This record gives sequence, structure tokens and C-alpha cells, in this order.
Amino acid sequence: MEKWPVGVFASIDAGLGVKLEVAHELGIKTVQVHTPHRETRTPEKAKAFLDQIREFGIQVSCVFLGFEGESYESIQKAAETVGFVPKATRAERLAESREISDFVKLLGVEAIGSHIGFVPHDRKSAEYSDMIDTIQELADYLEMNGQRLHLETGQEKAEDLLQFLSDVGRKNIFINFDPANLILYGMGNPIESLKKVGKYVRSIHCKDALKTEGTPGVDWGKEVPFGKGQVDADLFLKTLLEIGYEGPLTIEREIPEEPQRQKEEIEQALALIEKIKQNLLA
Ligand code: MG
Repeated sequence: MEKWPVGVFASIDAGLGVKLEVAHELGIKTVQVHTPHRETRTPEKAKAFLDQIREFGIQVSCVFLGFEGESYESIQKAAETVGFVPKATRAERLAESREISDFVKLLGVEAIGSHIGFVPHDRKSAEYSDMIDTIQELADYLEMNGQRLHLETGQEKAEDLLQFLSDVGRKNIFINFDPANLILYGMGNPIESLKKVGKYVRSIHCKDALKTEGTPGVDWGKEVPFGKGQVDADLFLKTLLEIGYEGPLTIEREIPEEPQRQKEEIEQALALIEKIKQNLLA
């Protein structure tokens, strides 16, 4: 496989990514997609989707879990609603994840990404061991389908994420590294964090952000186009090279309400990444 193919986060019928047609127009050959709605997760729809991406010559590297009721309106809201942390929806979301895993298998995709939610910090707490059990169960199901679980970064500091991975102790759990999220959630320097978790990184997002002017960890930072924030795009790619990452560089720009601007900014990110790639891989 080509080293570092540039990709984009796309959506079929849900999530914040660009439409597949837009990825195609931009000449992109690899995408991550958000999990489609339940009514779209049928063998017929899977086949139609596969026909479409084959026609476009696009490959799907990872499918991201997403659930009804999740909200990223504020950090507090995200902590309360995202992933497997909320107790009230944990069992049903786990069950739905199994359905999604089966659907993703129909697509022939071997990686499932997830914002599992804010992992509790007290390792002796019941909440922590419940989360370990839940993620082990999820990982074991994915393993049966020949899939890996890629945890999205951002909601924990690198050290806490490493501890959690080690406590879960499953061979098919890795990391989807999103440098902007570390800034948005106020969870540490993205480059230093990348070096720490490097050996687990199997997919990444090229996303950028500015840190909050309020209180880090309480107030959101601001997502900005890749290359315009505090990630340091050159250093990010250079560090990916150092840790031996060779997979897709998947651009994520979460402004679906402004499709034209979203497309233009992805196009600019694409040009920037190609330029940095040329310098680094020359
Ligand atoms: Mg991301």
C-alpha cells in the first residue's frame, strides 16, 4: 500500500463528515466513515455502498461508532452523553455496537473507531472496572469479526489512555490519534502525547484547533482548518514518520452545516499535507 494516502472523514447518512461524492470530487481514495443509521445497516444497503465506493475507487479504512443521544455541545455534555460511560444507555449501545460490527464486516472493514467516552480516572472505582469490562466485551466481539478497535484520543491525557489500554489488556485495541482533540479538551500537548502513545497508533485524524481562552478541560477550544491552529502540521507529520506510522492521513473537518466551506478547507488541507509529505518523504 502507498505510504500515507491522504483521506477524509466522510458520512453515508449520519455524522459530521463530508458526503462520499465530495471525497470523490476531491480525488480522495481512502476514507473513514461514521456509522450509518440503523435503517441503512442492511445487507442490501451495504452492497449498494460497496458498489458506490468501488465505482469511485475509494477504500474505507475505519468506521466510527456513533449513537443516538450523544452531544458535543460542551465538554460537560460530552462527558455525560458520549460512548459507553453513561450507565443508562451502556447495555443498549454495546448491543448496537455488535450490530454495527456485523455490518462493518459486510463492508470488509477491519477497524472500528470509537469515542468511548471520558474514562473515569480512579482505577479503584466501580465505574472504572465497569468501563474495563465493557470495552473488553466490545473488543472480544470485534475480534470474532476479525476487527480492531481504535480509541479516539482527546478525552484523556496520554498517560491515562496508556494505563487504560494496559488494563483492558486486549490485543486488538489501538488508537486513532486526533491531535486537535487534545487541544480542544485541554488534555496535553498533541506532539508529546503522540510520542507517548505512538506504538498503539493505527489511524489518525488531520484536524487542528486553538486552545480555549477560558478554562482548559472545562471550556471548549475552537476547531480550525488543518494547518491554521496549534497542532503544528509539519511537526505532526514529522512525528508520525518517527513513530513509524504509514497509514492514511485522514482529514477531519467538522462543519457539515457549511458544505462549501468544508470542501474548500479540506482541499486546502489536502494541498498542505501533500506539500509536507513531499518534503518529508523525499
Ligand atoms: Mg477526530
